[in-house]
Amino acid sequence: MSLLFTQVKSQVTTRQAAERYGVPVDRSGMACCPFHDDRHPSMKIDERFYCFGCHTTGDVIDFTAKLFDLSLYDAAKKLANDFNIQPLPPGQSAPIPKLPAAMIERKEEQRVLKILIEYERLLVKWKEEFAPSEPEDENWDDRFMHAVHHLPTLGDAIDRLFSSDPDERKAIMDHIRNTDAVAKIEAILNDGCQEVMNDGPEKDRAA
Ligand SMILES: [Zn+2]
Repeated sequence: MSLLFTQVKSQVTTRQAAERYGVPVDRSGMACCPFHDDRHPSMKIDERFYCFGCHTTGDVIDFTAKLFDLSLYDAAKKLANDFNIQPLPPGQSAPIPKLPAAMIERKEEQRVLKILIEYERLLVKWKEEFAPSEPEDENWDDRFMHAVHHLPTLGDAIDRLFSSDPDERKAIMDHIRNTDAVAKIEAILNDGCQEVMNDGPEKDRAA
């Protein structure tokens, strides 16, 4: 297990993993932290990562584990798989692989993915925070309803954007563009948790 960890860490930077997994990093190595509600980039990402907002820190395996809610071992396996890391004999190091050209084309997909993940995080929070306290309570909070209604399709869209099949990703991206979903979601995210119910779900239903 430790050999896998060493190989992954020596061949993939946190920055490469972040960009691959939909967390855009700017030229100065800063990104909006995916682990707290971050509006302005407060996470420094390079070989390792550190968030000046929530103080989360670690290496590429910690980052991936936290992002996908995986064990460290499963995160290392995912990285090895996604970055095509071949097992090496102990003591031998490999150069850091160049980003494949296709990744450049995926920039827009990654941007969308990041927004969807942020949205999912918000909805999961709403679903917990605003759940009816009594089973017979009929005045369900709009945010709870919104979350319950949208989480399944949202999860499906995120899964499909993570797909290795380009046709699958293109299909969901086309759908997202046609429904203008990202702009609506961004509006909800920018509003924070307040007053979004005034128009967010209406637009969604119309779509
Ligand atoms: Zn943070």
